[in-house]
This record gives sequence, C-alpha cells and structure tokens, in this order.
Amino acid sequence: MKRFLTLVAALSASLLFGFAQPFDVAANLQSHIEFLTSPTLEGRKAGSTGARMAAEYISNEFDAMGLKPFQRADFFHPFTTAFEDGVFRNVVGRIEGTARDRYIIIGAHYDHLGTDEGELYAGANDNASGTAALIELARLFTTMNYKPTHTLIFAAFDAEENGLHGSQDLADRFRTEEVKVMVNMDMVGLLGQGKLTIEGVGTLEGSEELLGEVASKAGIALKPVRFETSIMTATDTEAFAEKNIPTLSLSTGKDSAYHSPQDVASRIDYKGLASITQMLADAIVRIDQSEAVVASGKVARKHNSGTNNLLFGIAYSGGDNHHTYPGTALRGREAGAWNLGLSVLYTHKHFGFRTGATFERRKALTPMDTDDPFGPAQTISTGAVTVPVELMLKTKGNSCIYATIGCYYSRNLLAKQNKELCGLSHLGLSESEMGWQWSLGVRIAGFYIEGNNRYGLTPVYTSGPTIYNRTSYCTLGIYF
Ligand SMILES: [Zn+2]
Repeated sequence: MKRFLTLVAALSASLLFGFAQPFDVAANLQSHIEFLTSPTLEGRKAGSTGARMAAEYISNEFDAMGLKPFQRADFFHPFTTAFEDGVFRNVVGRIEGTARDRYIIIGAHYDHLGTDEGELYAGANDNASGTAALIELARLFTTMNYKPTHTLIFAAFDAEENGLHGSQDLADRFRTEEVKVMVNMDMVGLLGQGKLTIEGVGTLEGSEELLGEVASKAGIALKPVRFETSIMTATDTEAFAEKNIPTLSLSTGKDSAYHSPQDVASRIDYKGLASITQMLADAIVRIDQSEAVVASGKVARKHNSGTNNLLFGIAYSGGDNHHTYPGTALRGREAGAWNLGLSVLYTHKHFGFRTGATFERRKALTPMDTDDPFGPAQTISTGAVTVPVELMLKTKGNSCIYATIGCYYSRNLLAKQNKELCGLSHLGLSESEMGWQWSLGVRIAGFYIEGNNRYGLTPVYTSGPTIYNRTSYCTLGIYF
C-alpha cells in the first residue's frame, strides 16, 4: 500500500512537473502584481483600506482555486499588535495532507509601505512578487490535484513592514515538531540574469542538494546560504526560527528601488518569477515526500532563540583608565586603555555566562613619587592578559539588550614608564590585579556594542599608598 501511495505521489509529481503547465504562470503572476501595485491599493500599508483590498483579493484567489481555510471558517486570521491601532489580517489557506498534524508552511507578506506625500510606494518586488508567487504556487498544487503527505499551508502575511507581526501570529498556532519547514518568499521578482538566494539550507538536512537539483532543472542559478546572516534585514522566517523550526528564505535580493517609489510592476522579471514558482513547487513536492530531508537541529543564526547557545567571538575595547586613591579626595587623571581578545558566551534563555582572554593595555598618569600625589606626573602603563568571568541577563533572542556583572583577573606581563620598557618590580607594580566589572550592551545578530566598567580591588603598587585602577571601555565585538 505504501509503495502504491509512493507511486501515486511520484506520478502526481511527474504530472505536475513533467508536463507543460495547463495555465500561463507568468501571465497570472503579472496580473496579480499589477493589481496589488495599482494606485487603488495605495501601497497596501498594514491596516489601510488598500491592505484590506489586497487581503480580499488573495482570499478570493484561494477560494476560487479550492484551497481550504485553516483553523477558521474563512481565510482571514485577524490579529492585533501591542503598539499599533487597528486589526490586521493574514490570509491563510491549506491543502490537507494525509498525515495528521504534519505541516509545510509557505509564506509571503503582502503588506507594504503605503503612500508618502502623495507618492505611491507600490512594492512590486517587496512583496507583491512573493504574494503573487504564493498564489500561483497554490494554484499549481490545486490544479494538479496533488495529495500531499504534509498539510500545505499557504500564508499571505500582513503587518510585516511594521514588525513581522503577521508571521508571528501564524507561528504561534503551531508546535515546533508539527512543522517540517517554513518557506518564505520576500522580494523574488528580480531574478534577471542573477541568482536566487535561499538562506537557511543548513536548518534542513538534505535541502541544499535537493534545491540544487530542482534549481538546475528550472535553469535557475542558485545561491544557497546555510544560515541567515544578514543583520540589516529581518524576514517572516524569524518567528518560526525562534521556535526552532527549519526555515528557508527565498529572495532575488533588493536593488536601488528597495523601499522607494521606483519599486514598480514594470521592473519585475515575470519569466524569472514563474521559474522560481515552478521550482519551488517541485521542491515542496520533494520535501513533502522525502524522509531523508529532516530538521538539522540548527536554526538560522540571527533568529536563534538562544535557548542553548555557545558562541565564540572577538572584541576590541577602547577607553580610558585612571587611578583612584580610596579615603582621599584625590582622583588620578585619565590616560588611554584598550584591550583585544577572544570571548566565549554561553546563553540559556534570559541568562548567560561569558568569559574569554584579552591582551590589555592600561595607562595612568601618576605622580613620580607615589608618596607625593601632587608632585610631577609620569605615564605608567601596563600590558596584561586579562580574564573576565561574567554573568549575563538578557532579553529574548540573539538580537538583544543585555547586562553583565562579574569579576576579572589580570596578570601583568610588561610595564612602561613614559614609554620606556621597565620591569614591574622596578616600578613597584603588582604582578596581578583582581577586580569587579559590569557592562550594558546591545547585540544585533552577531554584532555587539557595550559600555564596560572595571574597578580594581587589589592595589596597583606593592607598596606605598593604596591605589586602584578604574577603567571604562566602549567595546565592539562579533560572534561567529
Ligand atoms: Zn519585504
């Protein structure tokens, strides 16, 4: 029976793709994009009348081709957001699979930016292209009467441009283990002679090879990327990746017209978009049927929820250092400080542990004679290996705000007096130093910037008055 079913499935797949299409995909794509970008829809700003009309249009298309609604009596999934007024609507259809509670989700946002001072932001590539491809993809499956194993979800997302809200609403409706993959299309209309980028092939084992095959069959130059690495853009895959669901993000990239009034329908490569749509249909069939294509356990890096996450990075800190004289009103004058080194971060949900090793140079303007703090000053600088150990509190996600508190140990390796290299003991400097530190930082994907303060708790000199180091840094770092 199973073999028979496989045969039927294979046969329907070959029917689907081995024969000429029964309708003109490129022409349909063009008419969708021309409608979605028409002035009547006023740039499809989330919550606007134009966006409502776009949603009605998609719903009518889904209905006409025989898709079934998902979890609701109609195709609309209304939702609200915390910071914006109004009700937004995803448009979600499904083709029922033979397996229970197993899903493949295909999504594209249909909202765009609206108008600005009378100028229409048509959003042809961003993302009427993905929306049109979504509709035609569904039509390929319904026309050929394909019977999938997984239930295929076709989701047109609202409110992407103002914060990926639509995809978040849909993602909340699934449990991680129910979804084999979430495939998103955002800006897929500019293939031309270029490449189709698919980010996230590292999240789904076997997908890189599979996609390579269907792309070459479709004559599409493919650029597979294992994880999503761009920090400047966010896509509707994010909410799914946060749930550790494998994601594939398709895009032909953005050009100078991105988020400008020049993003119009006449610039779209309809033939290229039709190839992408057919290629994706082919890929979905194979992903649906293949038991070898499974979640790798890794998710697109920038979206990793960080539930269990070990990261290695390098960081540079620049700032200043001065001496403090506890119990007195004295405060040393600032001189430069910097450090460069490796950092290791382990995070679990809202907590983290960070350590590393840096080479650290700290200078301080100090009195020539430590017993005479008002006497003539000189620059004393040290070079040390410093090891910090810190606990972190952070907000959710890899892009987050965080605070750390911890301690550090520095082992001085060299010392300079007014740029002359001298021995530590010659200057009466301690061989090592311990202290505490805190920091506040922001991380965007793999990059972070933070303010960091160190307070020495052991004296700078082995004898004489007790003097401590006090250092402030601005740190720039990157995690791999
Ligand atoms: Zn977009």
